[in-house]
Amino acid sequence: MRKGTYVYAWKAIPEGAEITIDYRLNAFTGERWACSCGSANCQGYVINSFFALSVEVQRSYLPYAPAFIRAEYHRQTAHG
Ligand SMILES: [Zn+2]
Repeated sequence: MRKGTYVYAWKAIPEGAEITIDYRLNAFTGERWACSCGSANCQGYVINSFFALSVEVQRSYLPYAPAFIRAEYHRQTAHG
């Protein structure tokens, strides 16, 4: 998880392992592009927005999200 200039991992990463970053963690511009990651649970596209994630995933990512995403999350949830 990216936070400022740091990247945090959910678990220990062995040396040489391939890693991925969910770009939606620090964006809410809403652009959409095709995804070819090959994951079994991939939708086949990415919507470049933290707020396009499921509510459950948003909650799990929120503590690791950049301050502007947390502020926007609280702004949006304050009204609904
Ligand atoms: Zn994918």
